[in-house]
Amino acid sequence: MNVIRVAVAGPRGRMGSEAVKMILRDETLQLVCGIDPKYNGEDVGTVLGIGPADAVLVPDIRQALDHYKPDVLVDFTTPLVVKQNMIAAIKKEVRPVVGTTGLSPEDIAELEHLCQTNRVGAIIAPNFAIGAVLMMKFAQEAAKYMPHVEIIEQHHDQKLDAPSGTAIKTAELIQTARMEMRQGHPEEKEVIEGARGGYYNGFRIHSVRLPGLVAHQEVIFGAVGQTLTIRHDSINRESFMPGVNLAIKKVMNHTGLIYGLENIME
Ligand code: NAP
Repeated sequence: MNVIRVAVAGPRGRMGSEAVKMILRDETLQLVCGIDPKYNGEDVGTVLGIGPADAVLVPDIRQALDHYKPDVLVDFTTPLVVKQNMIAAIKKEVRPVVGTTGLSPEDIAELEHLCQTNRVGAIIAPNFAIGAVLMMKFAQEAAKYMPHVEIIEQHHDQKLDAPSGTAIKTAELIQTARMEMRQGHPEEKEVIEGARGGYYNGFRIHSVRLPGLVAHQEVIFGAVGQTLTIRHDSINRESFMPGVNLAIKKVMNHTGLIYGLENIME
C-alpha cells in the first residue's frame, strides 16, 4: 500500500485540527509534521489533546518541507501566509491542498503558472463541503432562468476575509450563466454605507459575522411573484473533511492547479 505523506500547516486551528484527526484516522495517509510558528518539536497530537500522533510541530515551512519530505501540504492557515506556503511547497515539488481563503484571482493565476513550470499538482477549494459544492452548482443552474440574485453568506466572527471564498466562487459560477444586467433600482441610495452589500458584476453579496455560526450561505433568486432560495449549512467542521481527504488523494495524480472541489468530484 502506497502511503501518502502529509504535512498540515495551521494544525492547531479549527480546520487544521480536524484535518489532523482525519489524516490520523486514514491508514493510507501518514501525518509527517505540523507547521506552526509558535511550536518547535512538540508532538502534534499531544498539543491538540488527542494523544501522541508520532509527528512533531515545526515552526518553519522550509524546515518542514526539507526535513520531513511530505508528498502533500494541507494548508488551513490565514490569508496572510497561504500564498508563501504554497510557493515554498510547489518549488519543492510538494503538492498543496489548500482550504485557506483570501487568495485573489491574480494569486491563483500566478500559482497555476508556478505549478505548470514545476510540473506539480495543487488543489485549492474555497469550500470542501460536498453540499456546498452542490449549492453552488444549483445556483449556477438557477441563474440561467432567474437573473435577479443576491448572496448572503454567514460565518463565525473570527473569520478574517469577507466575502467568503465560497461566496466569491458562487458569484463567479453565477456570472457564467446569468445574463449581463445591473439589478435593483438605478437610483438606489445607501443611507448607511455598505447596507446593500458588496457589488459583483451587477449583483450583491452580503457577509454576516456572528459567534455561534460556522459556515452558511443562501443564494436568493427573485422573479415576478416568486423567490427561490438555495441554502447550505455546515454545522461543524467535520463536514469539510471528506472533501479534504478526496483532494489529498486526487492531487497525487495531477499536474497543474485545480480550483474548486467540483472539479475533482466524480
Ligand atoms: P483558525 O482557527 O484561526 O486557524 C488558523 C491557524 O493557522 C491558527 O492556528 C494560526 O495560529 C495558524 N497560523 C497562523 N500563521 C501561521 C503560519 N505562518 N504557519 C502555520 N500556521 C499559522 O482558522 P480556521 O477557522 O481553521 O480557518 C483557516 C482558513 O480556512 C481560513 O482562511 C478559513 O476561511 C478557511 N476555511 C476554509 C474552509 C474550506 O472548506 N475551504 C472551511 C472553513 C474555513 P495562531 O492562532 O497562533 O495565529
